[in-house]
Amino acid sequence: MADIVVVGAGITGLAAAERLLQQEPGADILVLEGSPRVGGKLHVGDLAGQQIDLGAEAVLARRPEAVGLIDALGLTRESPAAVGASLWSRGALRPMPHDTLMGIPADAASLSEVLDAQEVARAGVEQPVQIDGDLSLGSLVEQALGPAVVDRLIEPLLGGVYAGDARELSAQACLPAAYDAVASGGTLTALAARAAAEPRSDAPVFASLVGGIGGLPIAVAEHLAAKGITIETDAMVRELRCVPDGFELTVGSARSPRTVRARALVLAAPAAPTARLLGQLAPASSQALAQIDYASMVLVSYAFERGTIPDDTSGFLVPPVEGRDIKASTFSSAKWPWLRKALPAYDVVRVSFGRAGEVRTLQRTDEDLAAAGLADLAQALGRSLPAPVDSRVQRWGGGLPQYAVGHLERVAAVRAGLPHGLVVAGGAYDGVGIPACIASAQRASDELLARIAGTTQESEE
Ligand SMILES: Cc1cc2nc3c(=O)[nH]c(=O)nc-3n(C[C@H](O)[C@H](O)[C@H](O)COP(=O)(O)OP(=O)(O)OC[C@H]3O[C@@H](n4cnc5c(N)ncnc54)[C@H](O)[C@@H]3O)c2cc1C
Repeated sequence: MADIVVVGAGITGLAAAERLLQQEPGADILVLEGSPRVGGKLHVGDLAGQQIDLGAEAVLARRPEAVGLIDALGLTRESPAAVGASLWSRGALRPMPHDTLMGIPADAASLSEVLDAQEVARAGVEQPVQIDGDLSLGSLVEQALGPAVVDRLIEPLLGGVYAGDARELSAQACLPAAYDAVASGGTLTALAARAAAEPRSDAPVFASLVGGIGGLPIAVAEHLAAKGITIETDAMVRELRCVPDGFELTVGSARSPRTVRARALVLAAPAAPTARLLGQLAPASSQALAQIDYASMVLVSYAFERGTIPDDTSGFLVPPVEGRDIKASTFSSAKWPWLRKALPAYDVVRVSFGRAGEVRTLQRTDEDLAAAGLADLAQALGRSLPAPVDSRVQRWGGGLPQYAVGHLERVAAVRAGLPHGLVVAGGAYDGVGIPACIASAQRASDELLARIAGTTQESEE
């Protein structure tokens, strides 16, 4: 019987195993991953003979968890080039307005490139909002600053993180500072102005690795394996039962299942499989988890002859009101110096499709998506583009969890219903970004060890 089984070897499961090992060096830890590879949404693959990120591409460096893990593993952080992002607004690429907090302006005048005069005037006169519990971030900002700020700024910026609809996503979960500011009688504008007035650090906001951030889970897995932790891939956990001294898991294919026993469990899979595993064991948690929807996405990466894609922006976001197919594009060669160096003859660029509720995106063929991405890219750049040298379509069904209004309560309900000796962690709960997933893993692991220690102590007394 393993002491602790971790289900899922995405960055959350791997970070949980790493934390458990660090805190309990002698523990027998087993990681079970259903797919043939570790990493989940962190994944590298080939484009024009070079490994590039086909999923997540950067970590927020202003939070300690991801850069801490990178540093602890002795890996070298790569910073993006100092080029700003753009916004596709009213048919053209424009510089991203500065001094906004997730699109909330410190000064409405800074939005004059993307809003018309009437919209700027409306955003400049913040209206009070009555808050009575959670509401959508879109609704909060629309009432305070007008619909154009939501449609043209909040939507693309929030969409870049959640692939979601600002008028559905929870203010409390997605931008708690905004919710708290208004709930305590302040204004969004004052909040954004305070953030803009903070001393600017020269430290880069984002970080990656040479070869892509998809190398991070591989490095964590290698580190764990070197320390004697077993990580099994192709080990889908199908069922979960409580037994007197812990848990029993049914693992593997339906044709040749096997049983694994564990004293304690970390469930680090997305919401839907976790809900299924908890169906019998913790029905209330399972029901709450089943309410967390996911947005599916597709990323198309292209390699063009060098000189096709500009170097003066890291890419652009697209508000849904623009009516395009794509929702964002990253000019990867311009953004990541390591990639420019690795593929000097090409410009690598990627576009993303898929917002919450757009179920048809994943049904489109690879050819159709690649062509639609090229057409939007050409439109954004205002010129026709040559055929790419290479392209690659990566689908992410169930890519990003949607923190709908009431998310914090749902997560509290999930955790409240869990049996003793079982914790959950990952992108579905406390933040979708990689640092937030690692933080979630570390908290859950610490909590699990504390609870197990508590039980051992009780039984010894
Ligand atoms: C396209 C895309 C781009 C993104 N870009 C960024 C970015 O640039 N920066 C950033 O910070 N965040 C980004 N994110 C978000 C971030 O990548 C994810 O939130 C994070 O990687 C989730 O990690 P996780 O380990 O919780 O889940 P996952 O990565 O989903 O891993 C869960 C693992 O559990 C396994 N599993 C599922 N069910 C079972 C089962 N029954 N038994 C065993 N194993 C199971 C899965 O196979 C998977 O490997 C992006 C997300 C997507 C989809």
